[in-house]
Amino acid sequence: MPKFLNREIISYLKMKATHIEHIGIAVKNLEESIKYYENILGFKCYSVEEVKDQKVKTAFFKVGQTKIELLESTDSEGPISKFIEKKGEGIHHLAFAVEDLSETLPEVESKGIQLIDKAPRKGAEGLSIAFLHPKSTFGVLTELCEDKN
Ligand code: ZN
Repeated sequence: MPKFLNREIISYLKMKATHIEHIGIAVKNLEESIKYYENILGFKCYSVEEVKDQKVKTAFFKVGQTKIELLESTDSEGPISKFIEKKGEGIHHLAFAVEDLSETLPEVESKGIQLIDKAPRKGAEGLSIAFLHPKSTFGVLTELCEDKN
């Protein structure tokens, strides 16, 4: 049985995700998909930013406390290109806000969760981020992020 399913261990877990920070959506064309969110759903894109590290261009919308992050690949070998090749456009990851990411990561790992990022790195919007492997999160690529702004 995976360690994190052990209730006794769960009671010692300090990490608590506070809310869904954003939902990451893989798209082929950022411009075109921005039009859908603005003209059909009525949200306003407040930021477009390239994250070189992840080979993506991102666009952000606020939906209450949560954001939508559209991701277009800037490189045919990048992770978003690969994702779209395999699964098509659509929801790519869920991002939860946590209070202390560098403390959280070793803790989750010790509970049997496979980390993609062993240490926090810089994501869009100046957030400190790290990904958990979908193999150990029931199929959902999970991002944890801490707002250090
Ligand atoms: Zn994200």
